Amino acid sequence: MGSDMQPQPLKMIFFPFMAQGHILPMVDMANLFASRGVQAAIFTTPGNASVIQPSISDTQVQLLIVPFPSHPQIPPGCENASSLPSLEMRQAFFLAIADLREPFRQTVQEFRPDCIVTDMFLPWTVDVAADLNIPRLVFHGTNVFSRCCIDSFDRHNLAVQENPEDQLVIHPGLPHEIKLLRSQLDSSRTSHPSRAALFKAMRESESRSYGVVVNSFYEVEPDYADHYRSVLGKKSWHVGPVSLCNTDAFERGNKAAIDQENLVSWLETKASRSVVYVCFGSMVNFPAEQIRELALGLEASGHSFVWVVRNHQIEGIVPEEFEERTRGRGLIIKGWAPQILILNHRSVGCFVTHCGWNSSLEGITAGVPLVTWPLFAEQFYNEKLIVDVLKIGVGVGVEKYGIVAEEREVIEAARVERAVREVLGGGEEAEERRRRARELGKAARRAVEEGGSSYVDVSNLMQELIERRSSI
Ligand code: UDP
Repeated sequence: MGSDMQPQPLKMIFFPFMAQGHILPMVDMANLFASRGVQAAIFTTPGNASVIQPSISDTQVQLLIVPFPSHPQIPPGCENASSLPSLEMRQAFFLAIADLREPFRQTVQEFRPDCIVTDMFLPWTVDVAADLNIPRLVFHGTNVFSRCCIDSFDRHNLAVQENPEDQLVIHPGLPHEIKLLRSQLDSSRTSHPSRAALFKAMRESESRSYGVVVNSFYEVEPDYADHYRSVLGKKSWHVGPVSLCNTDAFERGNKAAIDQENLVSWLETKASRSVVYVCFGSMVNFPAEQIRELALGLEASGHSFVWVVRNHQIEGIVPEEFEERTRGRGLIIKGWAPQILILNHRSVGCFVTHCGWNSSLEGITAGVPLVTWPLFAEQFYNEKLIVDVLKIGVGVGVEKYGIVAEEREVIEAARVERAVREVLGGGEEAEERRRRARELGKAARRAVEEGGSSYVDVSNLMQELIERRSSI
């Protein structure tokens, strides 16, 4: 190539696992790289493309769409894990997606990207990458703090089921002393055959991958970013918070179940940092008893709240009088909420979250202290990061890991009330927590600005891919 010729732009394909918590950050990430001059494309299926389209309409990101593979156990039209009729179908869902291997291979071959960024739940994509001599970057959808904890868990075989549930299990070899109750650990990682097989495939696939891109920022977990790189030897780039590249905070993910003007004018009537925002991500359904306790806890806290419930979750469960009694200070959103818009409104002062990493990071980025209510996946580790390491949250005190509701304990109203009051109340400790949350929010924004840590990591990754290109 002559020296006066511009190099071809980098090309990247992003392939998210089909669940909202995985699609949303990866679409943000594709937009982010596109804003830095990368020719970015997202590989997906028609049912998911319609959700992605509004988030990429103003950018140069291309959609590469192939039909969703049919599977006898998956109802036609169900292309997203968040809309599976039952959790028992997850295994079939994984099998159906694995049938995308050949269409994915063909698409990659035609698009000729410099790298692919694929979800950890798509371990077979590393074979496609190897076949075509293209680097594969893994996206876990979480922070490296939890990845370091999970590594310690696997390495030291911490899921000893014979041990008492109330035993505190220390995770060895980490920068802090991280301990969880035995009952808060995911013992099915090793005991459940199909889950154990999936995790094994993911580990093997990761060890053959080029590196890891992380939706997090260095300043929120510096000890662990260093540990991950130098002790665990992972090549990783912190490029987040990727949600900051959303210029329209209302149109993200599904269609919001509330009118933007009504929402904003309701929030406007509230004092600064006085409202509790309650949302448990895109997947969680609570049983009736838990919904009742949560309602009573919010009411007893005395604070204003915005509470997101799935459509069917409230009718006939919370007594009519509840809505009456909390009229004016309680806003219930039945369906999808514009979470980023709400979190960034000046009136919101507390976020009750299930500690999904996207939600946690969105709360951190908004500078809002959290009430933590982890349920499953790596959420108990995220709680440790938020409450014990960063000291920007208060736990409701969940002691039991549970993917399905029957496995979990019911958190009583008094525990919800206590945690919310603690976060929104006065006193030095609460003030300090708010101050730390605000500072982290500022650090998150600085990280993605020109010269910030995430901005530089994006530049470094792009530079490395360009150099790799010229060396082959
Ligand atoms: N989300 C949203 N509105 C909702 C529920 C969820 O915008 O009503 C978004 C939220 O902002 C986050 C994602 O969906 O980006 C949920 O991801 P998270 O990792 O928090 O939880 P998951 O849904 O994967 O359990």
